[in-house]
Amino acid sequence: MGSFTFKGGVHPFEGKELSAEKPVESLKPGKELVYLLSQHIGAPAKPIVAKGDHVLAGQKIAEAGGFVSAPVHASVSGTVTKIEKRKNATGGYVDAIIVENDEKYESVAFEPADPDALSRDEILGRIREAGVVGMGGAGFPTAVKLAPKDPSIVDHILVNGSECEPYLTSDYRCMLDFPDKITGGLEIILKLFGPDCKGVICIEDNKPKAIEVMRKAVSGRSNMSVAVMKTKYPEGAERCLIHAITGRSVNSRMLPADAGCVVDNIDTVIAVNDAVREGRPVMDRVFTVSGDAPVNPRNFRVPVGMSYAEIVEAEGGFKQTPEKVISGGPMMGFALSDLNVPVTKTSGAITAFLKDEVSRAVPSACINCGRCVKGCPARLLPCKLASFAEHNNAAAFEEYYGLECVNCGSCSYSCPAKRPLAAQINKMRQIVLANKRKKK
Ligand code: SF4
Ligand code: SF4
Repeated sequence: MGSFTFKGGVHPFEGKELSAEKPVESLKPGKELVYLLSQHIGAPAKPIVAKGDHVLAGQKIAEAGGFVSAPVHASVSGTVTKIEKRKNATGGYVDAIIVENDEKYESVAFEPADPDALSRDEILGRIREAGVVGMGGAGFPTAVKLAPKDPSIVDHILVNGSECEPYLTSDYRCMLDFPDKITGGLEIILKLFGPDCKGVICIEDNKPKAIEVMRKAVSGRSNMSVAVMKTKYPEGAERCLIHAITGRSVNSRMLPADAGCVVDNIDTVIAVNDAVREGRPVMDRVFTVSGDAPVNPRNFRVPVGMSYAEIVEAEGGFKQTPEKVISGGPMMGFALSDLNVPVTKTSGAITAFLKDEVSRAVPSACINCGRCVKGCPARLLPCKLASFAEHNNAAAFEEYYGLECVNCGSCSYSCPAKRPLAAQINKMRQIVLANKRKKK
């Protein structure tokens, strides 16, 4: 039983058994790969190829567009056919480089390195050049995250293996299948901080096999350990994880580094390992297909740029047309209206359901039961915040700490009156943040 946890949270149906025990399969993409230039937080990447250019797998095709940005690399060999706007998973249109796959999979020669022989700047440079970003969904450029203003105050590197989102099992599979890459990446990250900095691999207690494998992988390493956490959603939310492991609090005006912590997800740590040791950029990622609609839920290693539709086809398709398809998991993911969108570095899953229970629910009046308050990991009053949002009362929303919401959806999940609390709160939060940006 895990001993680390946070206050609040909920226990949704896990659904992990559908895909957890199936090994990761590599997928070859179709003819067209779409590389979005905005697949990270920060400035979009800038193309350094033109229509008609021949590219190799692993070749940089767009460079970072600023300090907070990341380059983009081709995941196949082929010809650049277009540079134009393409739809992303949220329905927006962003610039993209389109490559026609020549199906030869010819690659650039990667340049391996020994991390012990590299300086701090060289390690960060290799991570930056490889286009590593937070692959858990945030997409923040990792080289920037790993270079906080004062690295000496960072004493915890938390590797987020909690994977608390229902149905998702890609992190679990990576822990079982690539434990040495995880300890290898963590060892590199620890080199960037002081000698007392510790690496903690955080895993929920519903993953006993992963705990066993990772404990074995860290044994004999005095600066690494495995922390077993109680299974509870949203254990993997950055602030919840930091509080659970260190007891420290982080608010919306702070960075985790201000509380002495850096949090990276499993795939990101593996990408750091591959970037620094092998010189391999981010070209693919592990991706879960799950829910009750897919014929054969499982995990795939998919190239960046491949379309969601091709992944679903490779999985075996849907048993019947699903009422709901989500990019990500059911708690924090977003509804997909079109499967013809490309995988990015931050795309982790498709979950598809035959019935859309959420849209069918008819909200009724609040009965003041307090369940949303009990479930909120940020210790907020979701019922009040949602009411302020309904009445467009930004001042009260801020006064009641609406900006501290981490958009986890626990309040909506808990509400017996089926009120769309998280959606209302998130919408208001975005408005308040946009107004603040305008005033600056
Ligand atoms: S108010 Fe925000 S942080 Fe609290 S439960 Fe709802 S979505 Fe999560
Ligand atoms: S959980 Fe729903 S019904 Fe209960 S207090 Fe919150 S908003 Fe009201």
